[in-house]
Amino acid sequence: MININNAVQFQHLIWDRVMKHANVVVDATCGNGHDLLYLAERARKGCHLYGIDIQMKAINSSQELLQSNDIAEDVSLTFIHDSHDRALANQLKDEVIDLMIFNLGYLPGGDHQVITKPHQTIDAIKEGLEKLSKSGVITIVAYPGTTEGAEEMQILKSYLTDLEQKLYNVCHWHPMNQINNPPELFILQKR
Ligand code: SAM
Repeated sequence: MININNAVQFQHLIWDRVMKHANVVVDATCGNGHDLLYLAERARKGCHLYGIDIQMKAINSSQELLQSNDIAEDVSLTFIHDSHDRALANQLKDEVIDLMIFNLGYLPGGDHQVITKPHQTIDAIKEGLEKLSKSGVITIVAYPGTTEGAEEMQILKSYLTDLEQKLYNVCHWHPMNQINNPPELFILQKR
């Protein structure tokens, strides 16, 4: 049963639908690989998944998790050790992306100083929006429970609010009766 009060789980409802036809999927903050594993397990034949992270520790951790699980042989996985804004502008410049995901903040169990930065996050979203297929989706989980996370979410909200309605559907999901500023979800779709 899905926990509808949890942003990380709630987005699975959307991912499950998109993964049925996705050819190219990007995890822009692959961290310990949990989200990437969820996606890889639902990838269809020929799907190419990219896992990006700025920390080698995270790339190693994701690689280990995916290797220790049985991912279909006809699904491709590429890891990129770089900041997501640069990786999208360079290594992924010619890709048409069906699903791109961000799980912002820091690596659980890692260095809390290495954290997503609003300007890089927004540059990566801009790159992603340009590369999205028609009806392609970007999901972003933001963490307003820390000072840096709250600031990043405010900057993100202001950027997303101004996206052209004719070009993109932009939604914001958040729990309404939880204490302690739980994670919130933003969902973008190319029209
Ligand atoms: N999705 C991951 C999972 O399922 O385990 C969790 C991601 S964790 C909350 C956030 C990750 O973003 C960290 O691993 C951190 O290293 C990474 N990160 C921070 N800044 C980044 C950047 N500019 N580009 C790419 N990754 C970045």
